[in-house]
Amino acid sequence: MLILTCPCCGVTADETELAGGGEAHVRRAGPGASESEVEDYLFMRENPRGPHFERWRHAYGCGKWFLAARDTATLEVFGTYPAQTTEPPEHIRAAITERHPGWRWRDFS
Ligand SMILES: [Zn+2]
Repeated sequence: MLILTCPCCGVTADETELAGGGEAHVRRAGPGASESEVEDYLFMRENPRGPHFERWRHAYGCGKWFLAARDTATLEVFGTYPAQTTEPPEHIRAAITERHPGWRWRDFS
């Protein structure tokens, strides 16, 4: 069972108290984007085996959205952090790198 700690209220909850919201850190297609870029923004999502970043809502708790980093193969949770964060915090990236040497956060720039 997936167990996450809500960074907003501090409650540790199992997945029955949470609602998944899909992939985190999806970059919105900006003005002037091509049809292909808009299509990618709307429909294309990562589906990795390993470290993944997801949006979750503490549906039966504080009701707020947050982000979680976890391993999709082992369900190991690397950490949770506020939804307003634009990229994973350094301590979470370090935790992932410790378990998956060579793993790199994708670079959007
Ligand atoms: Zn909460």
